[in-house]
Amino acid sequence: MVLATDRLRPVDVASVIEGVLAGDRRAVARAISMVEDGAPDLEALSAGIYARTGRASTIGLTGAPGVGKSTLATELVRAEREAGGTVAVLAIDPTSPYTGGALLGDRVRMQEHATDPGVFIRSMATRGHLGGMSLAAPEAVRVLDAAGYGEVVVETVGVGQAEVEVAAATDTAVVVLSPGAGDAVQMAKAGILEIADVFVVNKDDKDGAGDVVRELRQMLHLGAAGPWDPPIVRTSAIRHEGVAELREAIADHRSYVETSGALERKRRARLLQEVESLAAARFRVKAAAALTSDGALADGVVARRIDPYRAAAMLTDETAAAT
Ligand code: GDP
Repeated sequence: MVLATDRLRPVDVASVIEGVLAGDRRAVARAISMVEDGAPDLEALSAGIYARTGRASTIGLTGAPGVGKSTLATELVRAEREAGGTVAVLAIDPTSPYTGGALLGDRVRMQEHATDPGVFIRSMATRGHLGGMSLAAPEAVRVLDAAGYGEVVVETVGVGQAEVEVAAATDTAVVVLSPGAGDAVQMAKAGILEIADVFVVNKDDKDGAGDVVRELRQMLHLGAAGPWDPPIVRTSAIRHEGVAELREAIADHRSYVETSGALERKRRARLLQEVESLAAARFRVKAAAALTSDGALADGVVARRIDPYRAAAMLTDETAAAT
């Protein structure tokens, strides 16, 4: 158990890196807290683990609150353990800033896995990370990857733009719907349908599941067909039904992206995107600082001697030159 006070102690980043690479749970928890906090040592952490990442299969689980993502994640964990693999679940929860200290079983329904050394479950929020959740999540996933978990399930709590981005940044994005919790039209508006590699209609034990499937088919029919046709899997997570089919659909997608080269392309694109976003986030901080410290520039803009475009150009060139 990692206590909240651990967060306040100085962290020896070298030992955290060593621990992460050795698969030590406490070190993994520390490292993820560092990511959440945007700790000054984050760059050292990233440098220390990066060469050992890229091995885990990542699965995104996204959908409206209450559709059954956590219940499904628990089912996926159980099935993966039965198959002999190790698995980590990262629940991205921007609404709960104090979840970071909990190492295991921070949600009651996951407690059956709390004592299993092959399972790591963790909620995550961002407190200080420069680029917000869409930049913090990939680094946290790399921590779990470097620690040796073969599968990393990224569960997003909510359906905002950041959650969609986080889910889309996984190897296989699973979009979960269920009867009575947000219809497909709403999902389409939120841009979720486009990112799906696999659809799940959960709560198949309830009335209306068939209607959700039909509505979803209609929505998908309207969109342009891509090279991969996302399958729709029906599950009842509480009855443990359809989980094997879901795993099969995920595995099918995985082998499709591996053999077609799409996985390599997707990973490359998202890494470059990440570098760009990180650079932009750093640049923004520097530009803001430069603007504050350069009183003449600021006054010039306010007095209408220097127009905003020129001021921005001066700032960009100066800041870039100083970088
Ligand atoms: P999340 O908010 O998407 O993570 O959803 P949860 O996993 O917390 O589930 C929300 C509620 O739906 C809980 O009360 C679950 O027990 C219930 N639930 C989950 N899966 C199923 C299912 O397959 N059938 C039914 N009837 N209820 C389910």
